[in-house]
Amino acid sequence: MKGQIESRTTDLPNRGSRRRVLIVGGVAGGASCAARLRRLDESVEIVMIDRGPYVSFANCGLPYYVGNVISDESRLLVATREMFHERFNIDVQTETEVTSIDRNSHTVTVCDARTGNTRLERYDVLVLSPGAAPIRPLLPGVDLPGVFAVRTIPDSRRIRSWITDHSAKTAVVVGGGFIGLEMVENLIHRELAVTVLEKLPQVMPPLDPEMAVPLMEHLVSKNIQLHLGDGLARIEARAGGGLVVEAESGARLPADLAILAIGVRPETMLAKDAGLEIGARGGIVVDAQMRTADPNIWAVGDAVEVQDVLTGQETVLPLAGPANRQGRVAAESIAGRVTQFRGVQATAVVGVLGMTVASTGASEKGLRRAGVTNFQKVYLHPGHHAGYYPGARQIHLKLVFSVPDGRILGAQALGFEGVEKRIDVIATAIQFNGTVHDLAEAELCYAPQFGAAKDPVNLAGMLAENVLNGDMPLADWSELDRTDALLLDVREGDEFSRGHIPKAINLPLSQLRARYVELSKDRDIWVCCAVGQRGYFATRFLTQHGYRSQNLSGGYTTYRALKAAGLAP
Ligand code: FAD
Repeated sequence: MKGQIESRTTDLPNRGSRRRVLIVGGVAGGASCAARLRRLDESVEIVMIDRGPYVSFANCGLPYYVGNVISDESRLLVATREMFHERFNIDVQTETEVTSIDRNSHTVTVCDARTGNTRLERYDVLVLSPGAAPIRPLLPGVDLPGVFAVRTIPDSRRIRSWITDHSAKTAVVVGGGFIGLEMVENLIHRELAVTVLEKLPQVMPPLDPEMAVPLMEHLVSKNIQLHLGDGLARIEARAGGGLVVEAESGARLPADLAILAIGVRPETMLAKDAGLEIGARGGIVVDAQMRTADPNIWAVGDAVEVQDVLTGQETVLPLAGPANRQGRVAAESIAGRVTQFRGVQATAVVGVLGMTVASTGASEKGLRRAGVTNFQKVYLHPGHHAGYYPGARQIHLKLVFSVPDGRILGAQALGFEGVEKRIDVIATAIQFNGTVHDLAEAELCYAPQFGAAKDPVNLAGMLAENVLNGDMPLADWSELDRTDALLLDVREGDEFSRGHIPKAINLPLSQLRARYVELSKDRDIWVCCAVGQRGYFATRFLTQHGYRSQNLSGGYTTYRALKAAGLAP
């Protein structure tokens, strides 16, 4: 009978029987924990409970299912309930919600969504992996038909049907982060005209503003309307069908559907109600073994706070890799092994209509927010492979490192080829506490079609070394409109005439040896070129001839991005 409360005692398995591990949430963190634990311990009873209809599904694949890139829904099911049972002897209970935890009696109350009945389940060990829920702001209209968030397979199924059933032609994606941009790409695949409404003046909030510029230019080149620096105010139903998404500025954006992708919030209600500690960043507090202060309860995934290895501060990081690794660590800890979760560094990648955007570690703005000042940064724009081999595509790369020890703090990169490979190499170096000298020395794959004898990663390390050892003093882009230095552009005349930094004079590198005496030694000289390389050569030449010379890292290419981001005059 629906709503019936079943017996509180008779259904409970006997205490003293097999150790019973109960896992709440059966996707990234929960499923990894369950499977790893079984591989380590055949003796425990493992029960995995999820309120949704599926476990172990590919939430990361959901946008591509909307876009029909993945057309067969069953491809999203990484493992089924039957597979967990047959392969691992794990009991999976779907459409079953855990509604409360009683830490004294070691039981949870669960509600069967199909019948409405509740019952108690006993645990010796409880693992919480409830994930994070999409933020739904308390604004008028966010619950209207046609307004969607993307978290589950049924969510994406509903979006697919809505597009088809309403012959949707236009969409507004609220939020320009990872999930928002993946949805943009896939709505474009479905031939919708897409507008992005984003409160910040940039898309991809983890990036420094100037690094987001090439991405925004790319989106605009693909006919995506960017409505930036403006938050969501309300959503209204349009007379005759469809929606109007109204921004805080009053701008009204018509759409046949709207996607809310303004971030996620750790699901901590269960933990909080059970008296478990919730940290300042809103996640469940755990130790390095992923155990809460209750010795019988572990927690993993999007719902927990973990340490940022670079800043040492607690953070929440809703990404699949960390959730999987945390599930594994929890399983090892439950099985009695010595284990430890290292912490996170926010390595992430997103592909948007051909462009790849990837980052790892700290951003410049993140460091400034944390009050860190002893760092430097270099910009470079190398080809993804040797320039002489056809098809080299430019990568925009920013490396942030600590001064004076050269420890790598973070990197961001964008481009069309080979981007994530470079960020992965730098991410690995960060994990080993690497320095820019390690990047300069890294021995990486090279053949003309794949890379360069000096790979972009090596170049980034070498540039940073040049800064640290004084070979390439850096001019400060942010001081451009205050400096008394002479701005010297060493590109060729035709390049200079196509655009240059205000007040810069042109003396091409090719003429510098013959004409350098025209320059005064009384003023600092800030050198600019196209991407920073000729500027470096000129800086070296001038320095060795007694001039005080500094290079503007990344050259005019970086200047354009800084200017577009409002960070340069
Ligand atoms: P989840 O995977 O969210 O699983 C939590 C489960 O717990 C859910 O099934 C939920 O129904 C269940 N649950 C919650 N509360 C209860 C309860 N009380 N009782 C029973 N069950 C409960 N990360 C990347 O690294 N790369 C990507 O490309 C990427 N793309 C993404 C795209 C989308 C659309 C989404 C939504 C996420 C994406 N992520 C990506 C993030 C990644 O999916 C998550 O970080 C990861 O799934 C977190 O794992 P988790 O186990 O903590 O939570």
